[in-house]
Amino acid sequence: MPDMQYASSRAGSPNVTLSEAIRQGLAPDGGLYVPTRLPAVDIEEFAGLTRLPDIAQRGLKGFFEGDRLEPELGAIAAAALDIPAPTTVVARSPDPLFVLELFHGPTAAFKDFGARFLAESLARLQSRSDPPMTILVATSGDTGGAVAAAFHLRPWVRVVILYPKGMVSPRQEQQLTCWGDNVIALRIDGTFDDCQRLVKEAFVDFALRAKHHFSSANSINIGRLLPQTVYYAASSLEIRHRTGAPASYIIPAGNLGNAFAAVWARAVGFPIERIVLAHNANRTVPDYLRTGEWLPRPSIQTLASAMDVGNPSNMERLRALYPTFDAITEHVSAESVDDATIRTRIREDFMQLGREWCPHTATAAEVYRRLSEEERDRPWVLVATAHPAKFNDIVEPIVGKPVEVPAALGRLLELPRHMLDLPPTLKAVAAALE
Ligand SMILES: *Cc1c(COP(=O)(O)O)cnc(C)c1O
Repeated sequence: MPDMQYASSRAGSPNVTLSEAIRQGLAPDGGLYVPTRLPAVDIEEFAGLTRLPDIAQRGLKGFFEGDRLEPELGAIAAAALDIPAPTTVVARSPDPLFVLELFHGPTAAFKDFGARFLAESLARLQSRSDPPMTILVATSGDTGGAVAAAFHLRPWVRVVILYPKGMVSPRQEQQLTCWGDNVIALRIDGTFDDCQRLVKEAFVDFALRAKHHFSSANSINIGRLLPQTVYYAASSLEIRHRTGAPASYIIPAGNLGNAFAAVWARAVGFPIERIVLAHNANRTVPDYLRTGEWLPRPSIQTLASAMDVGNPSNMERLRALYPTFDAITEHVSAESVDDATIRTRIREDFMQLGREWCPHTATAAEVYRRLSEEERDRPWVLVATAHPAKFNDIVEPIVGKPVEVPAALGRLLELPRHMLDLPPTLKAVAAALE
């Protein structure tokens, strides 16, 4: 096989290797990196494999072909993907219904998989003579915590998190600020958009850049997407084994990183039938799939805050794979769920199914209820993107009881917080970086 190359989704910059794509994050023309061809897998080769690191080693091989990280793939996967991602059955459902639980990592949301894989990849690309890098992350909740957990105590990197004061859940804030050492949390007196603007301004400030060697770890990095295909591979193989049929997924979606990983897993050959995106009241994608008009807009705040995205960037990757509107609508569909319905769904599913959903997962559970009876005959899998204990302030009043806290999350909740309060100016951020 020839070496795998990565192209910008905007086709305006040269192709690069996987390592370069991971180091750069965004392509120089502002596009997102995609492989120039999709490496097909033969699913018979996966017989008997159930552990994510083993499935990653086989399933991601083609994406790593010829790259300097190729010999490291096994070690990267072993270190990063050592997190359970069980597909559990909803026993009380009258139809075949499963849940892909992606909340068993250190910060109890699916972003742990991508952040850890990226950290292990970057660790192997950094040479001893390179100056330490500074990863700047603007976060509205889960990304910052996952990135901090993944990079904490690595000597070659410093993580600087910018988050908006008063706009993240108390437990999310705890996960952004409990680290210390090489992780610095900046609480910005502004909005998430201010945080994002400050990161962008810092990146283009020549003097700051030269001094601090910035890197980004945001969700458009291909090093975060590839590992997410692995849990869809594992889960779909398990569903086929258990039911004899391909799995269909309903995926809570914001920036479409998690959903797009499922699209790639299906495109390379894993047994996946339908992929349905569950959005909150930010309706850009559902509206587009209905009308054919792409109208990005400012995000609005919802209960499922990690999905408050008005201009989902991974849409560019979907278009790179399926260039026409017809091809896109053939491969994915999307629905929108408002806050009142999120609350109703959490309450009803707790009573009827005995399951507790986080507000993001509840959008997928609602979209499942909207399927016709006929459609429910096939095995459906709801993707649970975060543990409900992370959003206890929302979930507990609805279900009327405390949500049990997973052990890993419980440990983080006990650590002291460290943060710096800053006004939303580049000058203040630059001073904090000193
Ligand atoms: C980030 C996040 C999402 C949205 O994922 P995308 O990849 O941005 O579509 C959904 N749920 C939770 C809990 C998240 O943290």
